Amino acid sequence: MALRLDGRQLAAALELRLRSAIAAGLEQAGRPPGLAVLRVGDDPASGVYVANKEKACERVGITSHGAHLAADNPADAVAAVIERLNADPSVDGILLQLPLPKGLEESPLLALIDPEKDADGLHTLNLGRLAKGESGPRSCTPAGVMALLRQAQVSLSGARAVVVGRSLLVGQPMALMLQAADATVTVAHSRTRDLAALTRQADVLVVAAGQPLLIGAEHVRPGAVVVDVGIHRLPPDPAAGPGAKGKLCGDVRFEEVEPIAAAITPVPGGVGPMTVTMLLVNTVVAWGRRHGLDNPLADLVP
Ligand code: NAD
Repeated sequence: MALRLDGRQLAAALELRLRSAIAAGLEQAGRPPGLAVLRVGDDPASGVYVANKEKACERVGITSHGAHLAADNPADAVAAVIERLNADPSVDGILLQLPLPKGLEESPLLALIDPEKDADGLHTLNLGRLAKGESGPRSCTPAGVMALLRQAQVSLSGARAVVVGRSLLVGQPMALMLQAADATVTVAHSRTRDLAALTRQADVLVVAAGQPLLIGAEHVRPGAVVVDVGIHRLPPDPAAGPGAKGKLCGDVRFEEVEPIAAAITPVPGGVGPMTVTMLLVNTVVAWGRRHGLDNPLADLVP
């Protein structure tokens, strides 16, 4: 039976650390940290994500500076809001919620975010800082995975890690973070030949392929640590009647892999909650930096 890498539990513990970090720095900073989540259009899933992020801010004492623009706004109007938030001294973190409505290009708008306020850690400068081992906001999902591995005392130095997926959002920064922790990292992607032969070599297997139930027992070496980043909703069971929602699943066939793995993240409740928490961590660290505070969260974001 594998150890469960419980993201909900760790996220709750980190929220307590965030609250005390904010309390400790409040007097010197003179104001609480601020996070602006910018939403354009009415994508329903984004609505839920933004609400979750705002609730998490409230729990730890971060002020939300949300902005919601209608879908028919031109790129200039979105750019103007980003510039305003860049200039606002009470905002430490800015997040442009994706996907954007059709007709708006993501990259040029993301590039406008002040790298020091890049709560998602995805700005070109911050990916470069990660590659060079310099301090700065870190990509939230892989940083959340690193926190889960550290919490479970998974030994990474010299370990063989395989990352399935090479996106800029997850796979690439994940590989850099594992490498910085002295793992020997291989990145697999959609053109990789004989994926199972490669993943079976992994002591630590991180799967971010965005393919429901891709990874089964045949892909996993007994005793490996398996982190499932994927999240998908399966079609509803027809027997469940009209209006029923399908179950959530990841990229890993949990029932098959759990009996042979040493540790595994569940979906939901594994990586997902950590992603939101790392957004808060980036914001609080940026706030501390602006006010000359020591970083009490340097184990999470340097
Ligand atoms: P993406 O589609 O941008 O990238 C997927 C990557 O997987 C690509 O590099 C592709 O080459 C690779 N891939 C696809 N099929 C493959 C296969 N059969 N074999 C090997 N590699 C394959 O996706 P993403 O943005 O990196 O996200 C990946 C998954 O993680 C998605 O399910 C997404 O919803 C989820 N996600 C979850 C969180 C979270 O907080 N839990 C955060 C971000 C993304």
